[in-house]
Amino acid sequence: MFKGIQINKDEAGYRASLEQIDEAALPEGDVTVQVEWSTLNYKDGLAITGKSPVVRRFPMVPGIDLAGTVTASSHADWKAGDKVVLNGWGVGETHWGGLAQVACLRGDWLVPLPAAFSARQAMAIGTAGYTAMLCVLALEKHGIKPADGEILVTGANGGVGSVAIALLAKLGYTVVASTGRAEEEAHLKALGASAVIDRNELSQPGKPLGKERWAGVVDAVGSHTLANACATTKYRGAVAACGLAQGMGFPSSVAPFILRGVTLYGIDSVMAPKAVRLEAWARLARDLDIGKLDAISREISLGETIGVAAEILEGKVRGRVVVDVNR
Ligand code: NDP
Repeated sequence: MFKGIQINKDEAGYRASLEQIDEAALPEGDVTVQVEWSTLNYKDGLAITGKSPVVRRFPMVPGIDLAGTVTASSHADWKAGDKVVLNGWGVGETHWGGLAQVACLRGDWLVPLPAAFSARQAMAIGTAGYTAMLCVLALEKHGIKPADGEILVTGANGGVGSVAIALLAKLGYTVVASTGRAEEEAHLKALGASAVIDRNELSQPGKPLGKERWAGVVDAVGSHTLANACATTKYRGAVAACGLAQGMGFPSSVAPFILRGVTLYGIDSVMAPKAVRLEAWARLARDLDIGKLDAISREISLGETIGVAAEILEGKVRGRVVVDVNR
């Protein structure tokens, strides 16, 4: 038996609870992992509360991320004792996930725990941090250099936003953080933001084009915020869109794209190929300041995830939440 969060949906309704689960009930997979740490992402909040139809099978163990040690493997790449990280691939949605002490997974989904990080640090990064790195890589590959000007980061106090600020600042970019939490200005500046703006400046319906300001954008918010970010991106600049914290809509026009040559990059972490993941984790190991990672993360127990899941959807969580699945 092992401890895990389980989501059920039946005539009694949609509910998540901490349960003792029989190992015999684990889904099929060629690698068994003793989970040491997991984390709570925005998507886990949606899954645990049922606010969005993230979970596709019941019962489900949520948790799109995990870090731990392989205990059994019939996959050529992995053997008992290997330290591994998993992000996405539908885990926690269609396949039992990381908010449990044991997981049975496909070896193809796993990446090695980078030597630079402990399992706990890898989960302080989690899908949010790995996605922030994917966004930064998209801007870099577009050719945006620090000298080109300011980079806008939206949803600045969230997981993606916090890690993106820390990474961009370390790489020498001038970062402008957009937030609804003005009281966190000092924290965002300590992370590396040069300036902080009120998210209301971006979140209302805007014009097709505005004054050119951003060399690049990391957007975790979507909706009018993404539309306004595109409308105020400089000629031939780029926007990396990864999130929908404000909304799924994109009430924009083609003006920024056809008149200013702005490029909109779509960032998906869930099904990203292994080579992309390995590149992102290698760059996180190189470019993420561990001290800043500690400053943006806090720890909770497995049982506490149910309450914190609701908080993350209300935008009340700052930075990253690490889950000790053995507590
Ligand atoms: P968090 O909940 O940690 O952060 C989201 C942040 O967005 C909040 O902290 C808040 O920042 C801001 N925000 C919340 N509500 C609103 C609103 N109504 N209007 C404007 N801003 C708002 O989530 P994550 O950082 O983990 O994820 C951010 C988004 O990215 C989510 O939508 C998530 O689903 C998505 N995502 C996508 C991935 C992909 O593969 N494409 C992978 C990972 C995440 P502040 O308080 O500073 O304003």
